[in-house]
Amino acid sequence: MTDTDCIFCKIVAGDIPSTKVLETERVLAFRDLYPKAPTHVLVIPKDHYANAAEVAKADPALTGEVVAAAAEVAAAEGIDGTGWRLIANTGPHSGQDVFHVHFHVVGGKPLGPMVSA
Ligand code: 5GP
Ligand code: ZN
Repeated sequence: MTDTDCIFCKIVAGDIPSTKVLETERVLAFRDLYPKAPTHVLVIPKDHYANAAEVAKADPALTGEVVAAAAEVAAAEGIDGTGWRLIANTGPHSGQDVFHVHFHVVGGKPLGPMVSA
């Protein structure tokens, strides 16, 4: 499943360059272009789903693969000991900008409050 207007589908296809950090048959992880922390990696299913709710409903096993890949990325980045945050912005109030589900793996420094007041 691909959405021809989707930038992350284009990254999966190799039509837009990215810095890959992990790839499996169904999952890709690559560095965020505008990192908000020393480690900031985006972990996505290669198939197009708009958000976390959609992929969870359509393919729970794939959702698990994405989360497992996020943990592998954290370990490979050396932040599994210090801790990290997994963020899946979903819908308008979250500020989701890209409508191909992605889990942000952020860490490498104390991250502060979970949500700004
Ligand atoms: P959202 O706000 O949807 O949760 O996060 C979208 C993320 O995608 C942002 O952190 C943004 O920096 C990142 N991003 C947007 N365009 C690109 C791109 O072309 N390449 C990469 N690697 N990251 C991108
Ligand atoms: Zn897509």
